[in-house]
Amino acid sequence: SIVVTGATGQLGRLVIDELLTQVPAASVAAVVRDKEKAADLAERGVEPRIADYDRPETLAEAFEAGDRVLLISGSEVGRRVPQHAAVIDAAKAAGVAQLAYTGVLGGPEADFDLAAEHKETERLILDSGLPYTFLRNGWYTENYTANLAAVLAHGAVVANAGEGRIASATRADYAAAAAAVLTGPVEEHRNAVYELSGDVAWSLAEYAAEVARRSGREIAYTHVPAETHLAILTGAGVPRPFAEILVDVDRAVERGALARRTGDLSRLIGRPTTPVADTIAEAIGAAR
Ligand code: NDP
Repeated sequence: SIVVTGATGQLGRLVIDELLTQVPAASVAAVVRDKEKAADLAERGVEPRIADYDRPETLAEAFEAGDRVLLISGSEVGRRVPQHAAVIDAAKAAGVAQLAYTGVLGGPEADFDLAAEHKETERLILDSGLPYTFLRNGWYTENYTANLAAVLAHGAVVANAGEGRIASATRADYAAAAAAVLTGPVEEHRNAVYELSGDVAWSLAEYAAEVARRSGREIAYTHVPAETHLAILTGAGVPRPFAEILVDVDRAVERGALARRTGDLSRLIGRPTTPVADTIAEAIGAAR
C-alpha cells in the first residue's frame, strides 16, 4: 500500500486527495490517531490504521512489508525527534519499500531553530538503512495568508525579515510532489533528495503591496527589530516559545534561508508552482 501518516492534517488530506486521482483507494492507507477524524477517508475507501507517534506500541501494525510510506512531520515542536524515531523504527521493523519524509528546505544546511528536528530525523532515517526520499519543503504560502484577516485589520505586515525573500508554494503544491514520489517508479526516487520551493521568491514588501492591490486597502510592510517583533507577538497573546520561533524564522528569511529555488517542486509536479498572488486572491475572497 501507499501509506500516509498525518493523513487527517492539512497537508495529509491534500496528499490523499492527490493520490486518489492516481491510484485506487484500496491501495491507500492513512495512519491517524483519531479514527473519527478519518471517517470521511474511510468512506472514500482509504484504509485507516490507528496509531499515535507518542505510543510506539501502536505503530507496530501501522506498516506492512513493501509499503511506500510518507512520514509527514509532526506538529508538536520539541517532541518530534522521539515521535519520528518511533515511526522510523516501526517502518524498519515492517520492511517498507520506501520512506518519504517531509523535512525542511536546505536539509543539513538549514540553520534556524525549527530545522533542528528535521535534520535529526533525516539522520535517523539515513542510519536506519531504509530506502528514503527526502521532501525538503520550503515555506507554505498559507503561513502568511492564514494571517490575512489581521493584516487587513491593522493595514500592516509587521516582521523582522528585512528584504529577505521567500520561495513559498502552497500546501497543495507540496502535496502533489509527495504524491508524485509515492506513485512514480520506486527506483526513480530511491535515496533521492528534493529541495522543494516555489518558482518565485517574494519579499514581504511585495506581499504587502499585493494584498493592498487585491483588497483595495492601504497595507504597509514594516520591518522591526527582532526584539520589537517578539514584544508585539507576545503582547498580542502569542505564547512566548512560539513567538520566539516566529522571530527566528524571520531572521532566517532575512538571511535568505527560505529563498532557495531549485525547480525541484515544479519538475516533480509537472507544472509551475502556485503564484503567491493566486493564494492571496483566494484568501481575500474567503475573508469577505
Ligand atoms: P497539521 O498540524 O495540519 O497536521 C499535522 C498532522 O500530524 C495531523 O494529522 C496530526 O494528527 C498529526 N500528528 C501530530 N501529532 C501526532 C501524533 N502524536 N501521532 C500521530 N499523528 C500526529 O500540519 P500541516 O498538515 O499543515 O503540516 C504538516 C507538517 O509540516 C507539520 O506537522 C509540520 O511538521 C510541518 N509544517 C511545515 C510548514 C512549512 O511552511 N513548511 C508550516 C507548518 C508546519 P491529527 O489530525 O490527529 O491532529
